[in-house]
Amino acid sequence: MRKPIIAGNWKMYKTSDEAVAFVDALAGKLKATDKADTVICPPAPYLAALVEKSKELPVQIGAQTMHEEVEGAFTGEISPTMLKSVGVEFVILGHSERRQYFNETDESVNRKVKSAFEHNLTPIVCVGESLEQREDNATAAIVSEQVKKAFAGISETDASSAIVAYEPIWAIGTGRTATAEDANEVCGQIREVLAELYSESAAQSIRIQYGGSVKPGNIKELLSMSDIDGALVGGASLDPESFAALAEAG
Ligand code: PGA
Repeated sequence: MRKPIIAGNWKMYKTSDEAVAFVDALAGKLKATDKADTVICPPAPYLAALVEKSKELPVQIGAQTMHEEVEGAFTGEISPTMLKSVGVEFVILGHSERRQYFNETDESVNRKVKSAFEHNLTPIVCVGESLEQREDNATAAIVSEQVKKAFAGISETDASSAIVAYEPIWAIGTGRTATAEDANEVCGQIREVLAELYSESAAQSIRIQYGGSVKPGNIKELLSMSDIDGALVGGASLDPESFAALAEAG
């Protein structure tokens, strides 16, 4: 009932030519299917060009972050209305790299989530524990706190269309994937928190992705789990062949 959603997070990779070449290469490979939604999140300078190019393909475009204000003296930042004005539909918010290197907090993530909904962007809200927190058996507590804070003040109607990405920090870019069972357990806990915050039906409609070293070789097992509704993919989304294979698995 929940349609899987595969999102590629390119992070700070690819030149403009490489980004265009990726979409060209994808054209022959990505088939329109009812099986999965697909999103590519390129670096900001290519968003407009990729929105244009993606019109021929069953893929949508997302940003990797945004500022919560519409405009202002915020050198270097990009606003939700700017993203909308070039046709962007999704925005990744609170990725662990943003939290770690750019001082994003649960509170600033919450402001951005609110702003995304106000401007009709679908947020992909990232949560996840560090290795230390996992070893301390604090995963459920940490992740539940992150979800509660990210969704504070968000209406049930808005929340129902959100996407949550569970990304254990120790699995990102390390080649170390959580086992499908472990990932599913935490995604299930996230769904319980959403049910407490809203309702069972809202929690059942929210798509929860797993992220962290997802590849064509492990996507099928992850997607076979009851509470995993897709993947947020870094490294393996940079190659059109492997991105298409991930989309196909959905
Ligand atoms: P990875 O990154 O797939 O390279 O582990 C995932 C992410 O950071 O979203």
